[in-house]
Order: sequence, then C-alpha cells, then structure tokens
Amino acid sequence: MPNDLRENEQVVRLAPPSDGALRFIGRIRTDWPTRADCPRQGRTDGPDCRIEVDPVWQDALDGLEAYDTIEVLYWLDQSRRDLTRQSPRSDGRTVGTFALRSPVRPNPIGTSLVRLLRIKDGVLHVRGLDCVDGTPLLDLKPDRCAFTPKAPEQPGDRQTA
Ligand code: SAM
Repeated sequence: MPNDLRENEQVVRLAPPSDGALRFIGRIRTDWPTRADCPRQGRTDGPDCRIEVDPVWQDALDGLEAYDTIEVLYWLDQSRRDLTRQSPRSDGRTVGTFALRSPVRPNPIGTSLVRLLRIKDGVLHVRGLDCVDGTPLLDLKPDRCAFTPKAPEQPGDRQTA
C-alpha cells in the first residue's frame, strides 16, 4: 500500500476483499498515462477516448449507437480502498469518503456520462472520460431507458391562456 496519506486522513483495517466478484468487459484507452495526468472529471468537450469492448461482448453493443449520451462504469484500479475520511485539498481538513467523488473508496467504481461519437469494430469513440489509459471497463448503459414512460402530467405543467 503506498504511503500517500495526507494530514488527518483516516483509514480502517480491512480483510482482503473476497465477495462480489466483478467481470471486466474491456479497457478504456485515453491519452493519460498516470492519475496525475487525468482531469478531475471528464468533459464532453474533452479529448476523444476509446472504449475497447472485449470481443465476446460485442453483440451486447447492438442498439447502443442510437444514444448520444451513455453512462460508462469503470474500475479505478490504482486506488487505495481503506480511507473513511479524506482531505481533498491536502490542507488537513477532512470529509467522509461518501461525500466525495474521489477515486479512493471501498469499491472504486468510477462513472462518467460521455458523448458517444461512433462505434466501430467493437470500439466506442467517446468524449467525457477522466481515467488512466488501460482502466478496466465494468459496464455501459444508455443515459436513459428506452422504455421509461414519461412522468404523468401534473397540475401546473401546462400554461393556461
Ligand atoms: N468520473 C468518475 C466519478 O465521478 O465517479 C471518476 C472521478 S475521479 C475524481 C477521477 C480521478 O481519478 C482522476 O483525476 C485520476 O486522478 C483518478 N484516476 C483515473 N484513473 C484511475 C485509475 N485507473 N485508478 C485510480 N485512480 C484513477
């Protein structure tokens, strides 16, 4: 475990994780070789990134091209996982892990809403990511459900003349 704690940060002693095994379904390719190179959050006007889906999952992409915005879930594999309080500004003031979008968390799942540019040969070209080159991919979803009905109309929704 790297010795990278900041002033007043707090850790817990944990047994090695054993349950809830996840299956990586591909890799994310970005221009950022290290964590320090990444933006804090992706921007949809940021650089093009590629999501390489493993061949066995490529049929699962069918239909996804209809969406402009998709949600990407990924495994922030270089994170430590034992902090309960963190000091995001490195100034000794701490806040609880669950009050942050920090990559340091018990299950380091990152999520980004990205703009889908195109899908070709099982590779998604997107904008809006913020992770290191090679980050494992967990899941892809449209930003909304195609079958979700609109919320019923409420009084006051319509302006009366
Ligand atoms: N957008 C995601 C979210 O909100 O869930 C992640 C936000 S997190 C603040 C993004 C930061 O995680 C990057 O700036 C970088 O420092 C770090 N990071 C990127 N890739 C990582 C990886 N594979 N493992 C650990 N940390 C990573």
